[in-house]
Amino acid sequence: MLKFGGTSVSERARWDTIGRLAQQRADEHAARVLVVVSALSGVTNALTAVAAGEGDASAAIEALAQRHVDFARELDLDPDTVLGERIARLRALLVDPRFEARPYDWQAELLAQGELLSSTLGAAYLGAQGLDFGWCDARDWLDALAMPNQNAWATRLSVNCIDARDDAWRRRFASQSPRMLLTQGFIARHADGRTAILGRGGSDTSAAYFGALLSARRVEIWTDVPGMFTANPREVPDARLLTRLDYSEAQEIATTGARVLHPRSIKPCRDAGVPMAILDTQRPDLPGTSIDGEAATVPGVKAISRRDGVVLVSMESIGMWQQVGFLADVFERFRRHGLSVDLIGSSETNVTVSLDPGENLVNTDVLAELSADLAQVCKVKVITPCAAITLVGRGMRSLLHKLSEVWATFGQERVHLISQSSNDLNLTFVIDEADAEGLLPELHAALIDSGAMPVQDAGVFGPSWRQIVHGHRVREAPWWMRRRGELLELAQAGTPRYVYDLPTLRARARALAAVEAVDRRFYAIKANAHPVLLRAIVDEGFGLECVSRGELDHVFDVLPRIDPAQVLFTPSFAPRNEYAGAFARGVTVTVDNIEALQRWPDVFRGRSLWLRLDLGRGDGHHAKVVTGGVASKFGLPAPELERFAQCARALDVRITGLHAHLGSGILAPSHWREVHADLAGLADDLGTVETLDIGGGLPVPYKPDAEPFDVDAWASGLAGIKAAWPRYRLAIEPGRFLVAECGVVLARATQVVEKQGVRRVGLDAGMHTLMRPALYDAWHAVHNLSRSDETADTRADVVGPICESGDVIGTARMLPAGTVDGDVMLVADAGAYGFAMANTYNLRPLPQQDVLE
Ligand code: PLP
Repeated sequence: MLKFGGTSVSERARWDTIGRLAQQRADEHAARVLVVVSALSGVTNALTAVAAGEGDASAAIEALAQRHVDFARELDLDPDTVLGERIARLRALLVDPRFEARPYDWQAELLAQGELLSSTLGAAYLGAQGLDFGWCDARDWLDALAMPNQNAWATRLSVNCIDARDDAWRRRFASQSPRMLLTQGFIARHADGRTAILGRGGSDTSAAYFGALLSARRVEIWTDVPGMFTANPREVPDARLLTRLDYSEAQEIATTGARVLHPRSIKPCRDAGVPMAILDTQRPDLPGTSIDGEAATVPGVKAISRRDGVVLVSMESIGMWQQVGFLADVFERFRRHGLSVDLIGSSETNVTVSLDPGENLVNTDVLAELSADLAQVCKVKVITPCAAITLVGRGMRSLLHKLSEVWATFGQERVHLISQSSNDLNLTFVIDEADAEGLLPELHAALIDSGAMPVQDAGVFGPSWRQIVHGHRVREAPWWMRRRGELLELAQAGTPRYVYDLPTLRARARALAAVEAVDRRFYAIKANAHPVLLRAIVDEGFGLECVSRGELDHVFDVLPRIDPAQVLFTPSFAPRNEYAGAFARGVTVTVDNIEALQRWPDVFRGRSLWLRLDLGRGDGHHAKVVTGGVASKFGLPAPELERFAQCARALDVRITGLHAHLGSGILAPSHWREVHADLAGLADDLGTVETLDIGGGLPVPYKPDAEPFDVDAWASGLAGIKAAWPRYRLAIEPGRFLVAECGVVLARATQVVEKQGVRRVGLDAGMHTLMRPALYDAWHAVHNLSRSDETADTRADVVGPICESGDVIGTARMLPAGTVDGDVMLVADAGAYGFAMANTYNLRPLPQQDVLE
């Protein structure tokens, strides 16, 4: 079963694709293929307008006839032979005696013409291309099913169909020839023998009915998008393709937002156990979304969605508590006004419900009438417009503890209603529509970071929309994969130990050294002060940036001949003697407050120094690494620059550099040029500045799906801004970017323990070895180096040996099932802020370190 929608049948090349795909399926499975098609795009809308009595009916019908005639010519078909009879029937509906009154059966017949025309054209074209294709009338196979409580409109224009048939029916279908058949979506036979319509999303639903009735191998819905995503990709470009879902998850996602598949189309396939797939006509090589009953039920949030235009009705009753029949009273009034209720929240004295405009004909009159009616039994408040934000996934209840970041995201908004579905598949928050602006990307990121959306599970989560559209920037395989043998040997000498790869370090240093706009490069040694690394970085033309007397002493110990002009001292809340000591060494000192000058005038009198500014904002991979803005202890607020300058002049102090480092792991390449622009503007006012230092903070891609930093975009931004202020020398002081990827931690698995459904792999490395996960919720890839040939197919938390609950290196990681104590494990990208922060907590010794040439 293949289904193609309007845009897929409106161009000749698309029909070639349909023919090719159908033939492929027929050959692959030696099976019969049924293709269901929609009307050409826009045709159903035009017919709906005529059916509703809008506009000039005969002009509209003539335009439609002409459109199909033109398309027949484009397909090299003779319009009269192929379409003559169909167009005559279309025109006949305007001279039909029912035309004036437009009863529903006439409307249904009119609406059906779009699919009848498109399928007739398509079958003729595919036949002309030499394909063994026949045409059949869907009304000979799908019969409308009368439902209790259906109104006259629904029994004709929004029907369900009979979805179970006997063998005779199946034999009759099987006897049709040829092997490939084309039929219409959207239409069925009414019990009175005339036409009925399946309503919105009708073509998907037709395909599902046919699939179910014929026990199809699978129902493929071919569309213009790659499948269902974890969020609407237009709003969240990092949304991931969902490659495998079970029926109920797909149902929930289709119902709460995704437009790719009509929610009504899932039930027939689900009941018949027929798998479905959503596939992209333009990108047939992508996996698409497969929906079936056997999908492994991975717990976790699969998708988030947002529906706007939600109306909330809040009903307050003082006497509700234990008042028999209050709810019955209230809901009876909703029924009376033909409004169906979506979500419900209740407390002792309040019931709040949401009405979904998609399903309810909400207009202000109905609401006013309803409010008046409800006012007889309670106090009513209508809150609109609201947005419903829904999280869909399996086992939402057991995920609540992981959702703390999500609660924090909502913390800033007013949540009117929270509702959890009884099937444990969805959690919905209703907030003001205005508050929902920009919320989804934030929420999506928080769900991934907290582990609530388990995107590392490759069986369910495919590529992101961004990756599909822009392609992957090619990432080279990490160095440690090539050097596995050496690493396993080093591990013999004891674990935990850090190992650094000098070629990787040099490659990063050279990438930055090649950026012409930058005049001076300093490496922030706090990231990793290993002597061999420092020498290698200095060899690549970098100076060094220190933040303490200890770091300064270390630099001059390791590199006794280094020119002090190549060394910066940028301390924070350091004692007086550290400044004095730094001046004595002749290095460049950076100050970031006025108080230091006021309290210790003798230390600074007559000196040249750099000034660190807070530009009023910060950024970074975690709140704890943001170093700008009111909450941060760093930097002189820019508005106080003049006061600082006065104080400096009084001490004959010369400000020769302005500096700003606003955070670490900043993703936007534009950040640094903006900092430069701000500093340059301020420097112009001072008149003594020679150098602008725009800090470090360059990010590295810790996660497998993270994009590597776009150094070219960064460099061209800097070149642009540098050209505007050529008089200043431009300095940078990166740490992480140079050393993170060159370092790994080698550890040994200590114990593998299964506790109440959670598997934990213990390492001899923990938060005392690598603090970043505990301190910043940082993500580091973990691999079992002893078992790199085995598939990493078992989920486990990776923990350390420290007596702290926070001693977790990573949660829900995929590792080989055979992982046992003694295996050599590798924690990746640990070269920055790794050993540098290691400690001896619990009296565990510091890790060893090795450098590989
Ligand atoms: N410069 C200063 C003043 C810093 O405080 C830091 C980091 O804390 C850096 C540079 C280096 O930052 P990153 O390692 O993110 O490049």
